[in-house]
Amino acid sequence: MNRTQTDVVVLGCGVAGTAISLDLARRGLSVTVAYRREDEGSSFSNQKWKHSGALYPVRSLALAAWRAYQSITSGPDQDYLLGPAEAHFFSDDPAVLDQLQRQWDAWGVSSWGLDISPLPLSSCKRVGAFGRSCFVGGFRTPDCVIDFPSMIQDLRAEMRKSGVGIEASANVKQLIREGNRVTGVVVEKTSGETHIQCRHCVVAMGAWAPQLLKSIGLVPPVRLTKSNVLVLPDELVDRITVWIRHEVTIVPYRNRTLIADARFMPVDDPDDLAPHWPHVDELVDDLSRCFPDWRLAQKSAYGCLKTAEMSNTGIPNPNVAIYVDSGEQGYCHGVTGLTVVFPGKASLMWTVAQRVGTHVARLLDSS
Ligand SMILES: Cc1cc2nc3c(=O)[nH]c(=O)nc-3n(C[C@H](O)[C@H](O)[C@H](O)COP(=O)(O)OP(=O)(O)OC[C@H]3O[C@@H](n4cnc5c(N)ncnc54)[C@H](O)[C@@H]3O)c2cc1C
Repeated sequence: MNRTQTDVVVLGCGVAGTAISLDLARRGLSVTVAYRREDEGSSFSNQKWKHSGALYPVRSLALAAWRAYQSITSGPDQDYLLGPAEAHFFSDDPAVLDQLQRQWDAWGVSSWGLDISPLPLSSCKRVGAFGRSCFVGGFRTPDCVIDFPSMIQDLRAEMRKSGVGIEASANVKQLIREGNRVTGVVVEKTSGETHIQCRHCVVAMGAWAPQLLKSIGLVPPVRLTKSNVLVLPDELVDRITVWIRHEVTIVPYRNRTLIADARFMPVDDPDDLAPHWPHVDELVDDLSRCFPDWRLAQKSAYGCLKTAEMSNTGIPNPNVAIYVDSGEQGYCHGVTGLTVVFPGKASLMWTVAQRVGTHVARLLDSS
């Protein structure tokens, strides 16, 4: 078996692994990142939506999303925006619109700099190529489309330039746990197995992380769910368009339209990405009710997985979950040398990276 050494090994290279590897390398640590396939994971199959937080149900979550959104003016995100930095959120129910307006007023979103304004009725009655709609009103928000896949590919090139060791096409086979410490990992490539010895290991493997952690006796309190993304040819809308509270979210992305259901079906197998057709059919029914003139020509869909943290109330936390051995940055799992991250949203990638980077750098500094 080959052997190498690094300060930090990062497992997985979706939004989380990419942003964390770069952050750690910029802090002067030696970093190796290992991942299995070029375009694997929810970071590639998701809806490409940079969330402003406007639709979040809880103030603290909305504010965290809004702070993360602001990286589109100060960070690399701005180069990957597609279309306008403006979304339309609609409803067929005036009570929903009133309730949202009251909630935003109570949260004081305008004092955050989050600009939400009502849309004129004329822009609600017809929606892009869907035509006539059931909407009676809506809001304009700064939510926008961001090309996460292109951004990740470019950031991987930047990682190489920054000296990050990249183990691509590498299957993470095993974490090495010695007593209460993770000391390395075994990855498998066509050329053979490599034992990467590390001072710290960051697991950023999305839906596949729970299986790996189980092999060293850890069970993080997360739930794995599958939603379905219906793919329609052409961009049927020119911006993110949402049927509020009906959870119909429509995103134009590179000559296609991505429409996700938010039914979050609990699943066990992270490799099963087949769509759940009954849920896709329900989504198509929702769309038909909303747009009476629209007809589906051809049904194409795929499954997309989410690993969300379960709170005490049993409600999944849509933001970030970080599990660490100790300290105040996350939730304690008690195993030294190991950090585990589940960003509930790709939009939060830089927030996650900053928190993990600070935590790991501090630990390694003091060891
Ligand atoms: C339907 C749906 C739509 C969504 N839409 C959005 C959206 O529009 N905007 C948004 O902000 N968020 C969205 N999300 C959430 C978002 O996509 C995820 O929170 C985020 O992408 C997770 O990123 P990650 O890096 O943790 O995991 P992933 O992107 O899943 O990456 C996992 C990595 O682990 C690697 N890996 C796995 N197993 C192994 C192994 N054995 N060996 C080596 N490598 C391995 C993979 O190759 C990959 O690199 C959506 C989620 C769902 C379900």
